[in-house]
Amino acid sequence: MARGARALALCIALATPCAAHAYCRMTAPRTPPGACELGTPVAWRGTPITVHVNTRDLVVDPAAGQPLDALVRGYAIVAARRWSDVGCGPTMALGDDVDAPLDRARDGRSALSANRRWTPDAYHRPGTVAFTVMTTDATTGAALEADVELNARSADNPLGYAFGDGAPSWGVADAPSVLLHELGHVAGLAHSLRAGAVMEASMDVERQRRELTDDDRAGACALNARPAVTGGCSAAPTRSGAWCAALCLVCIVAAHGVHARRETRRRTTS
Ligand SMILES: [Zn+2]
Repeated sequence: MARGARALALCIALATPCAAHAYCRMTAPRTPPGACELGTPVAWRGTPITVHVNTRDLVVDPAAGQPLDALVRGYAIVAARRWSDVGCGPTMALGDDVDAPLDRARDGRSALSANRRWTPDAYHRPGTVAFTVMTTDATTGAALEADVELNARSADNPLGYAFGDGAPSWGVADAPSVLLHELGHVAGLAHSLRAGAVMEASMDVERQRRELTDDDRAGACALNARPAVTGGCSAAPTRSGAWCAALCLVCIVAAHGVHARRETRRRTTS
């Protein structure tokens, strides 16, 4: 398998350089590539942030794809606890399971879903392992919901990924690492340029990144800062930004986005 296809793709759109710290927050409206924290920082109005496991397609015919229910539920709990245990950032908790189609209208619930039909579009790019779409109020930056999709291998999606939780295995995405990264997005973090950070934009599939770094923890704490911490980030493209853009292209990393409500409506009705 080509190196690019093996790369663990964990989103690109908001990976940006920062002068004073490596982490970045999501902003509303969407931060353009090459910039950092332009716009209103996204923030949840209350905690804990509740995330629901979407049971649809998590349990499948083993001949057609792997059952993901135990992996997703179990490591989502672990990831939520990791972020919550930072202490000065938002807390996260799992709510009741939901059963919802992926093309549902935004319903105010944040859900973790397995997608076994990865039809290419702006979000479902080939090679992407998972992405998170944050829906916000475009004016205030208030987070409304954040939905995570996993690119799950199936008979209908042979180029999707198998997910595992054991020793690194060629071509198998590490479920604990992927869920920890995506729940970082759910919390409100964009990508970090700090090598080795959980919120780094990409890493090889065979790697594992199961523990938060100091940079990840600092980012989580910034999410609760009042007023919002935005100083220190450079909006101008830098050498690091160019490197990131190149890396993102090589790794075929995919997008996650910050949607304004109006944008969301267009998408879900088109
Ligand atoms: Zn990402």
